[in-house]
Amino acid sequence: MVKLNENYQKLQGSYLFSQIAKKVNAYAAQNPDRTIIRLGIGDVTRPLTHSVISALHSAVDEMADEKTFRGYAPDLGYDFLRHAVCENDYRARGCNIYEDEIFISDGAKPDSGNIQEIFDDDNVVGVCDPVYPVYVDSNVMAGRCGDFDEKTGRYDRIVYMPCTAENGFVPELPQKRCDIIYLCFPNNPTGAVIRKEELQKWVDHANANGSVIIFDAAYEAYIKDPGVPHSIYECSGARECAIELHSFSKNAGFTGLRLGYAVVPKDLVRDGVSLNSLWARRHATKYNGAPYIVQRAGEAVYSEAGKAEIRALVDYYMENAAVILSGLKKAGYTVSGGTDSPYIWLKTPDDMSSWKFFDQLLENAGVVGTPGVGFGACGEGYFRLTAFGSHENTAKAVERICAL
Ligand code: PLP
Repeated sequence: MVKLNENYQKLQGSYLFSQIAKKVNAYAAQNPDRTIIRLGIGDVTRPLTHSVISALHSAVDEMADEKTFRGYAPDLGYDFLRHAVCENDYRARGCNIYEDEIFISDGAKPDSGNIQEIFDDDNVVGVCDPVYPVYVDSNVMAGRCGDFDEKTGRYDRIVYMPCTAENGFVPELPQKRCDIIYLCFPNNPTGAVIRKEELQKWVDHANANGSVIIFDAAYEAYIKDPGVPHSIYECSGARECAIELHSFSKNAGFTGLRLGYAVVPKDLVRDGVSLNSLWARRHATKYNGAPYIVQRAGEAVYSEAGKAEIRALVDYYMENAAVILSGLKKAGYTVSGGTDSPYIWLKTPDDMSSWKFFDQLLENAGVVGTPGVGFGACGEGYFRLTAFGSHENTAKAVERICAL
């Protein structure tokens, strides 16, 4: 008889968004005339930009011609895209990153789920609480998290780093040993950001302890404050301790197209081995590369026209964030985030549980948000709203919430 990976059975319930979908579908079936407004799931809604579409068309034409047809992509990604990433996301910001340290992928979710494979199962993982669930779930699948304690809502081998109103949703350095530390700023779900001097402390801590930081920069395009770093490599010493993950999803709308990249510097060495060489080995063996046409679309994001279009896209969503923030503040809610990120973190009124607030919002306002507790125990009593809707729906949703 085949034996299953028992670690999968330690995963808690269904993935947060399947649970939400179930509730929303049931509500929609019972209320067929009610328009539901989704300000919950972190998917974008604006179409791809002109430069991206035009690059896709040209690349498709190339695939139709035997002289320009492309088969398997190079393991690390096409040079043209790695060059564009390196120049624009790193060199232009004064970060010392090289093209052969950039690994093109099909997104930050697969990268954040897969990167743990290059580490031993014995390592202790540190995560922010609340946090994007993929970091914990992928380590649970790998058997690194111990058992789940129903009472605390936590795995007993993970080090949780609370992000609360008291610390401005930026965690303190962990007191316990962590070998792998996941940081995500701007943060999903709280919308919090970390200032450069604060992030520098994490880099120094990781270098002092021999740990590795996995820095998820999926939302860096939303940063407006000049004191907030776009990349961990803006901090000195980060080449020796940090891996960075990027996505084309939330800036350029590639959630359906799929494109991202990981940066694994050659100076990141543990046990005498460069992690860059391990990730290259994994890429060569377990990954088929992002499609050529998608990589060309990614390159177009870095053209002058492409950059202007992305700025407009981000501004569009940030106008929504401003509408949500000001509307809810006026209505007396306690809200944070939403100024350098597309997420607004709302404290539920009267210490209501976050699922109860979810139900209330759906039933009384027809608005879907995300219960904070779905991102960790410290998310209880909080609720995530996203800026990824249309202007019209966002304004309508805010109106409905305020009328509750
Ligand atoms: N990282 C974070 C923190 C996210 O919130 C998300 C999506 O919501 C992702 C990564 C997924 O990125 P991608 O679409 O590139 O897989």
